[in-house]
Amino acid sequence: MTCFANVIIDISHEKLDHTFQYIIPPKLLSEIYPGVSVQVPFGKGNRMLRGFVVEVTEKPAYNPEKLKEIDSVTADSVTIEAQLIALAAWMRKNYGGTMNQALKTVIPIKRRTKAKEKRTVCLCVDAQEAKRQLEVFTQKHHTARARLLQELLLHPELSYEVVTQKLNVAAGVIRALEERQIVRVVHDVDYRNPIAHVKGKEYEIVLNEEQQNTVDTVRADLRKGLRPVYLLHGVTGSGKTEVYMELIADAVAAGRQAIMLIPEIALTYQTVMRFYGRFGSRVSIMNSRLSAGERYDQFQRAKNGEIDIMIGPRSALFTPFPALGLIIIDEEHEGSYKSEPLPKYHARETAAARARLSGAYVVLGSATPSVDSYYKAKNGVYRLLEMKRRVKRQPLPACYVVDLREELKKGNRSVLSLRLQKLMEERLAKKQQILLFLNRRGLSGFVSCRVCGHVIKCPHCDVSLSLHRQGKAEPDADGIPGQGRLKCHYCGYEEPAPRECPVCGSGYISGFKAGTQRMEEIVKKRFPAARVLRMDLDTTRSKDGYEKILSAFANQEADILIGTQMIVKGHDFPNVTLVGILAADLSMYAADYRAAERTFQLLTQAAGRAGRGDLPGEVVIQTYNPDHYSIQAAKEQDYASFYREEIAVRQLLSYPPVSHMVLVLFTARQEQLVKQAAADLARWLKERAPAGLRMIGPSGALVARVNDVYREVIYLKHRDYSRLVGLKDEMEQFAREHFYYRKINMTFDFDPMNGM
Ligand code: ADP
Ligand code: ZN
Ligand code: ZN
Repeated sequence: MTCFANVIIDISHEKLDHTFQYIIPPKLLSEIYPGVSVQVPFGKGNRMLRGFVVEVTEKPAYNPEKLKEIDSVTADSVTIEAQLIALAAWMRKNYGGTMNQALKTVIPIKRRTKAKEKRTVCLCVDAQEAKRQLEVFTQKHHTARARLLQELLLHPELSYEVVTQKLNVAAGVIRALEERQIVRVVHDVDYRNPIAHVKGKEYEIVLNEEQQNTVDTVRADLRKGLRPVYLLHGVTGSGKTEVYMELIADAVAAGRQAIMLIPEIALTYQTVMRFYGRFGSRVSIMNSRLSAGERYDQFQRAKNGEIDIMIGPRSALFTPFPALGLIIIDEEHEGSYKSEPLPKYHARETAAARARLSGAYVVLGSATPSVDSYYKAKNGVYRLLEMKRRVKRQPLPACYVVDLREELKKGNRSVLSLRLQKLMEERLAKKQQILLFLNRRGLSGFVSCRVCGHVIKCPHCDVSLSLHRQGKAEPDADGIPGQGRLKCHYCGYEEPAPRECPVCGSGYISGFKAGTQRMEEIVKKRFPAARVLRMDLDTTRSKDGYEKILSAFANQEADILIGTQMIVKGHDFPNVTLVGILAADLSMYAADYRAAERTFQLLTQAAGRAGRGDLPGEVVIQTYNPDHYSIQAAKEQDYASFYREEIAVRQLLSYPPVSHMVLVLFTARQEQLVKQAAADLARWLKERAPAGLRMIGPSGALVARVNDVYREVIYLKHRDYSRLVGLKDEMEQFAREHFYYRKINMTFDFDPMNGM
């Protein structure tokens, strides 16, 4: 049989989908697969050009008689492009979508952009004078000026971007200091070298025993030629970042490069400076605000060997380093490592795939590993490394669980429990800081009883039911159900929303509602003298919104910070000694199977914010479910006991990681069409499903209509992940044959992070 190859000729071209089809001559058949570089005749004159194979197919897209043959395979076929194209093919195979979508994810598109001017802020007075000025600014409460001066005393040259974005010093402040001739902004200096003087300085941290053991274990494996995926489970403050840096230093010394993924929100000034401090100009930092052109430039520098280390969010995984040695994924449990746009890849698995292609190894790190990763570590798929002690030996904070049902019985209807109010008063009197954490996830309307804590759940799936009104996902302003219906996201089960609690009969049953803004009003009313800052999607909409708020709080410009999950990530506030978790249950009843896991992670991470400095910390967890294992385990900071309970639940209900799931989402402009398509596929699946496959649905998606596009979902479960991947190919084939002319879109999401 004749086979055909789709070849791209110009890989940096904007139109990656511009492929040309060639016949594969039989003698080359075994050598042609995605990523291989080939010589092909091109155009009228049959000029020989180099291209890359992106797909192999048995079906020609054109009349085969008009197609030309591939000439030969290029000798130096293992280029970085070849690797990335092979990775894209792996992604397409495992996550669905088109090859073009996969290629666009993996290969940066070249766009012309104006070269950005590089600016550096330099101190231009001597240290003595700077210190004198610092004192003046501090006295006058010019906090931003003081902050900049303080940092310049440590690092006399700082990149302008680092100062404005990470240190949160406004351009006006820099200008004011420039006018006083205290600092100077130097243009066109190589910004890659933001703190040149630090380079070459001896690195003074010596690893402690636990850290050294961890590093030694990895080194021993590497010497044996082993390149596994490690899961580094280390409590907060156990010194994971130092271990990462040591391993990176090893890789660089061996002439290889490293990628470190980190959630953007955790990439603080301190972290940036730690890496610059140790690796100087060989590090590059990426963020999601970079334009396509800037990203392209950064990737070019990586390819050309100008840098060895790339730090950034999910997309940094595709940095085209020619000899990648190591990929680190910090805070590996974070949801942001799963892509929402197609292909819906997970950075963890994709990192492992890339590592296999380039002979690198992977380190996943977290204080609260995902159940998925921990399960793999327990089953020998990953190699577990553990660090159990905090470097600075600070004790873990004392943690109280407050039962909100008891508060109501005592007549306290406030969202602030009596204990929390008392502790807040104490802290304010001592001029120590307070974090109030409100989890907004899951607000899409589970319904609970404020008297007995009962939550209404699906009788089939053990996830909470969501309150629905016609066309709206959230409860009305009054939050009172009754007119609405309760619906299960997984199986489509429905019932009318009750007016009374089915367990205790009280009328206090409603969709749980409490926003950060309302919380701010309540706190201000109760503590009128306190300075309150709020951080949520509204207050962080501006470009550097969240960094501004964080640094204002870090500089003690406020006593209380109220916020959503954004405030629990990796920040060090040494003066925070009290953390209040206002409604721990909000994430527990998010309508998907990862709800308990997310609750445990959020509570543990939030609690970890208390007592990071020299002062001991306290934590108050307010809940309607004080006995729930995710809350008890978070109180004790006991990962092992959480994992034991949780994995038993997943086992019982066949949820990942014990079993696997794929969500098939259908979308179309006509309701009838989308329902029909889902029903057709479901019927076909029932006829030819592999043994052990379980199908849930089809049912309307959680939000059945978005912008007049109708949505239907089918969930498929199977113990064997690869069976689901295989089934995806067959479903794609079915869709090509049956839906093609009917404008129906079908996409896949493997082990989805969010219910649909
Ligand atoms: P994690 O990433 O596990 O939260 P970090 O690596 O950020 O921990 O370490 C926490 C703090 O302890 C940091 O301020 C770091 O500089 C410091 N630290 C880490 N390891 C050591 C060490 N071996 N000696 C002294 N200080 C250390
Ligand atoms: Zn259900
Ligand atoms: Zn009740």
